[in-house]
Amino acid sequence: MTTNEFSSSNFIHNAIDEDLKNGKYADGIHTRFPPEPNGYLHIGHAKSICMNFGTAKKYNGLCNLRFDDTNPIKEDVEYINSIQADIKWLGFDWEDRMHYASDYFEQLYDYAVELIKLGKAFVCDLSADEIRAYRGTLTEPGKESPYRNRSVEENLDLFKRMREGEFENGAKVLRAKIDMASPNITMRDPVIYRISHTTHHRTGDKWCIYPMYDFAHPISDALEHITHSICTLEFEEHRPLYNWLLETLGFDENTRPRQMEFARLNLTNTIMSKRKLRQLVDGGYVDGWDDPRMPTISGLRRRGFTARSIRNFCDEIGVAKSNSIVDITMLEHCVREDLNETADRVMAVLKPLKVIIDNYPEGKTEYLLAQNRYNSDKTHYLPFGREIFIERDDFMEEAPKKFFRLKPGGEVRLKYAYIIKCESVIKNESGEIVELHCTYDPDSKQGGKTAGRKVKGTLHWVEKSTAVDAEVRLYDYLLTESSLNEGSDFIASLNPNSLQVLQNCKIEPWAAWAGPETKYQFLRQGYFCVDKTSQRNHPVFNRIVGLRDTWSKAAKK
Ligand code: ATP
Ligand code: MG
Repeated sequence: MTTNEFSSSNFIHNAIDEDLKNGKYADGIHTRFPPEPNGYLHIGHAKSICMNFGTAKKYNGLCNLRFDDTNPIKEDVEYINSIQADIKWLGFDWEDRMHYASDYFEQLYDYAVELIKLGKAFVCDLSADEIRAYRGTLTEPGKESPYRNRSVEENLDLFKRMREGEFENGAKVLRAKIDMASPNITMRDPVIYRISHTTHHRTGDKWCIYPMYDFAHPISDALEHITHSICTLEFEEHRPLYNWLLETLGFDENTRPRQMEFARLNLTNTIMSKRKLRQLVDGGYVDGWDDPRMPTISGLRRRGFTARSIRNFCDEIGVAKSNSIVDITMLEHCVREDLNETADRVMAVLKPLKVIIDNYPEGKTEYLLAQNRYNSDKTHYLPFGREIFIERDDFMEEAPKKFFRLKPGGEVRLKYAYIIKCESVIKNESGEIVELHCTYDPDSKQGGKTAGRKVKGTLHWVEKSTAVDAEVRLYDYLLTESSLNEGSDFIASLNPNSLQVLQNCKIEPWAAWAGPETKYQFLRQGYFCVDKTSQRNHPVFNRIVGLRDTWSKAAKK
């Protein structure tokens, strides 16, 4: 994996190099991340954030955060706050350059007036349906609006009255006057202002007309002296309009922003649209935007993904010019790589089976030393005693030959401790195994006479009297299908087993009291993260990923 984040080249950086070589943008590179505050950010946005902030960093430039708050109906302050928190957590900083498209409403209005004066915009009374019908298709040119040839004076008057609130929602729009026969439908007299009598979270009731994204975005970019306006592929068709607006409004060709598109990130077994994610939240299918199954940044964070692993992932997948879908196991691979180096290793038994070591002195507790990580000399104490828990699955009464864990009469080593031998199995009335009786070899622990004795299996375990009961949440993918067809019902494809909650799991005491977001490797089990709902008397852990790396395996094939 590349460790020097953002340094890798791609077609966007090549284009920037070209611009710089041609003497453009002499004042430095300036990008922006422009979220619409209508939901929480997801991993796709992380890619865009890494791209924008990473590009600025690579060229010693700047990157702004700009909220594209031109659609007051769907926006909310909660989203504005969460977006800032997520970007900071990912490790990026817009410094003092946080802007809102709504900061420019007055200027945008003036630019619209300017267009009208240039004869390049007109007030249109067609309804939304009529506008659509007049627009034509890919194979047929559109039809000009009957209002297209209003005089400049009439347009100025009507636009002013639109602003003053004289007309109802939808009664009129302002449209750019470009070309109804253009092969690019975006250029067929696009709507640039609409009436919406809606209170805006920042401008209140000052406005009842709001600019369309396609109008607000290029001008906001230009006002902020953005040099490269990096966006996703669906905006490719809008680029001629972006350029038309800036050119018509007289922004200098050598300094005005250049729009460039890259492919959206899609991931297998999940969905990646704020609208759909909101449906999951509102429908109660998940436990909020930060549910650990969600591909949101806050969900990934709560699940235990590290910011570094997400940045590495975004770097690793690179930027492409065509849409594709990335295997989610690659994201898992990235977090595994990070946590392998940074997470302390502890013992936890998820499905406990009691083991009594009959020849171990009653009431005695030993404190063994356990190494925190393979790459660290740090150790912690691990209590050992007469009664311990092992994993239920690590014992089999009728074991096949190749089963190297515990079986009647068989021996295993307890990690960091002794070799034990299974002497007898105790069952309840219904035949269920309730405990095992074992004996231990007192000389088999580190430093003992038989420490070097080899047995095939090594098990994790937790001492009973000091074990802490914990809740462990095991997650599976949100969707059963790896990818969905456009328009198919994703709710029907939700994985009914995406969450499994285990109670009374046994955790070694050293790991039980850590605060939220602490990550551990539970030996032989995977990586786990303390959940935000965790409490001292009821620790809660989220499984981030298991240990088996299916991505590296597939990648090596
Ligand atoms: P969604 O459909 O999920 O709401 P969006 O594109 O409407 O996404 P915005 O808030 O408008 O979301 O996006 C902010 C920036 O993030 C835009 O520049 C957009 O292109 C980019 N972006 C959004 N989704 C992805 C994705 N899946 N991959 C890469 N970039 C993305
Ligand atoms: Mg959007």
